[in-house]
Amino acid sequence: MSLLANTLVECKNLSFEYPNRGMALREVSLRIEEGKKTAILGPNGAGKSTLFLHFNGVLKPRSGQVMFDGRPIVYRNKELSQLRKEVAVILQNPDDQIFSATVEEDVAFGPLNLGLPRDEVAARVDEALSLVDMSHIRERPSQQLSFGQRKRLALAGALAMRPKVLIMDEPTAGLDPHMVQEVLELTEELHMKGITLVMSTHEMEVAYSWAEDFKVVHQGRLMYSGPADGLFTNRSLLDMLGFQA
Ligand code: ADP
Repeated sequence: MSLLANTLVECKNLSFEYPNRGMALREVSLRIEEGKKTAILGPNGAGKSTLFLHFNGVLKPRSGQVMFDGRPIVYRNKELSQLRKEVAVILQNPDDQIFSATVEEDVAFGPLNLGLPRDEVAARVDEALSLVDMSHIRERPSQQLSFGQRKRLALAGALAMRPKVLIMDEPTAGLDPHMVQEVLELTEELHMKGITLVMSTHEMEVAYSWAEDFKVVHQGRLMYSGPADGLFTNRSLLDMLGFQA
């Protein structure tokens, strides 16, 4: 591990509560290092998605702080749209993210919203569609896509923003093994490009072979942060994750 690793996203004593629902995050402090692949593990309802929505400022901590690239997030429209150019969150359900009529329109949506010139938008759409291998179906109505294709379209939409950090909520859930492999290969390509990657997953084998840094969340608390060794030798953490060795 480089001693010079830069922290891109940091939470300090982050707590959050949905109205009338009890605490969803409790005093979470963690760092996401630049250029790394980080896996966030935890059972359903542990708080992973809630944590991700703090990384791009969609949710605001009830107490504590979230920092991006060394600076506290400022919860004003201008600063938040700047932040979302850098931190892209891909939601678990692609249908929460796909709004446009066709594949290419959907990928163009983000870059157009940034006010980029048309040729720049076109270049980004081409690049993103090529990365997810959807160039050949760019004119297809998004309603006619399979679940796996919709997952990849949501990913392309995020990539077209050329983010520094890509946060993926359960990117392999619901995919067949072949598609899981494709998604993992694509993330390797993004990793080689220097993009910081964060993924939540239930699939321990996927996490083990993919990630360099591991964080375990349980009932809104951070229970572990570190390399694979410390996690996969810790019986009580593995039990908490429902992992049968
Ligand atoms: P995970 O992503 O690990 O499955 P979540 O962050 O979705 O966990 O959920 C954490 C807790 O917050 C759960 O108790 C869940 O029921 C609650 N929660 C999540 N989203 C909402 C919401 N929109 N409104 C109210 N409660 C929510």
